[in-house]
Amino acid sequence: MTPNSKLVAIDLIRKVSLTATCDTLDIPMTDKAPLKLLCVTAHPDDECFGFGGALMLAAEAGIETSVLCFTDGQAATNRGASTTPEHLGEMRRAEFAASCKILDVTHHELLDYQDAQLEFANFSETAAKLVKRIRDYKPQVVLTFGLDGAMNTHADHTMVSAFTTAAFHWAASPKRFPELGPVHTAQRLFYNTTNFFFPGRPAPLPAPWTVTLDVRRVQHRKFEAFRAHTSQLPLMEKFQSFFEKRVGQEFYTLAATPHPRAAVQETDLFAGL
Ligand SMILES: [Zn+2]
Repeated sequence: MTPNSKLVAIDLIRKVSLTATCDTLDIPMTDKAPLKLLCVTAHPDDECFGFGGALMLAAEAGIETSVLCFTDGQAATNRGASTTPEHLGEMRRAEFAASCKILDVTHHELLDYQDAQLEFANFSETAAKLVKRIRDYKPQVVLTFGLDGAMNTHADHTMVSAFTTAAFHWAASPKRFPELGPVHTAQRLFYNTTNFFFPGRPAPLPAPWTVTLDVRRVQHRKFEAFRAHTSQLPLMEKFQSFFEKRVGQEFYTLAATPHPRAAVQETDLFAGL
C-alpha cells in the first residue's frame, strides 16, 4: 500500500464510522461543518477594496460569506444626490447591498450605529452584538481591520477592529455572555493590512502581513463593486489609476488562532481548514 492509498483508506474508514454514528443518531451525514467567513467593516464600500478579493475567492471555493457593516456612512464627504444625512444613509444601504451582490456575499447586514461616532459606543454592549452573531453564524475565519485604522486611519476602523477582536475571543469563552448561546471558537482572526500608503495622506502604522492573496482573477469585480457605490464615485475617480496598480493583491495578518504556532507566510486564509 503506498502512503497515499493508505491515507485514502484511513479517510474511508473515518467516513464509514462517521456515517454509522450519524445513522444511529439520525443526524445529517456530514463529517465537517460548512466553511464560513465573517467580515466585519465600518462603512459601506469598506467591503470592496480591503476585503473584496478575499470574499470573492472564498465564494469561488464554495465557502459561505457574511459581511457585517456597522454604519450607513452618513458622515461621508461625497454625498451624491442626497438631500439629508438620512437620505444619504438610505442610498448607501442600497449601494452596500448591490456591492455585496457583485462580491457574491451570501449574507450582508448593516447595523444602526452613527458614522464617525463608533469610538463613543458602549464597548461591552457593542462587542456583545458581535459575540451573538459569531456564536449564531459559527464562522471559522473572521476578517476585520487592524487597530491602525486601515489606509485612511479612520477611528471607526480602529473601533471595529477592537470590537471584533474582543468578540472573537469572548465568543469562545463560557465566562463571557453565557446568555448569548453556546460558545463558538472561530479558528482564525485576520486583520487586513497593506504594503503601500496613499500619496499625500497621513500613513497608518500597519501590521506585517502573514497572508498574501493573489486576487488578480477577480480584481475587475472589485472595481465593479466599488462602482455600485454611486454616491462615492468621485473617490473612485480620484484613486482609480493608483488602485489599478495595486488591486491584484490583498494582505492579511493572522492575529489569533486556537493553536500555538510560529507566524508563517501563507497564500490562503483557509489553508488546512
Ligand atoms: Zn471605512
